[in-house]
Amino acid sequence: MLLIHCPWCGVRAESEFRCTGQVKPPRSEFVHKSDEAWLEYLYQADNRRGILEEYWCHEKGCGQWFKLRRDTTTHEIMDGDTDS
Ligand SMILES: [Zn+2]
Repeated sequence: MLLIHCPWCGVRAESEFRCTGQVKPPRSEFVHKSDEAWLEYLYQADNRRGILEEYWCHEKGCGQWFKLRRDTTTHEIMDGDTDS
């Protein structure tokens, strides 16, 4: 089980959180490019090995959203970020 540091509550079990996916560039960069670019933005994820920045919600705790960086190979979690 992963232990995740919520910036507001401290370290909690992964089961209290929900990950909603990778942090992407702003929508405005893709919405008017082309239909293909927009579809790729909406439905494709890098799904690569290594460090990714993801959106997480402490849904069974304080309900706050934050970003954290996680190594998808080792599941090591780096510092979270609250400016999401
Ligand atoms: Zn929390």
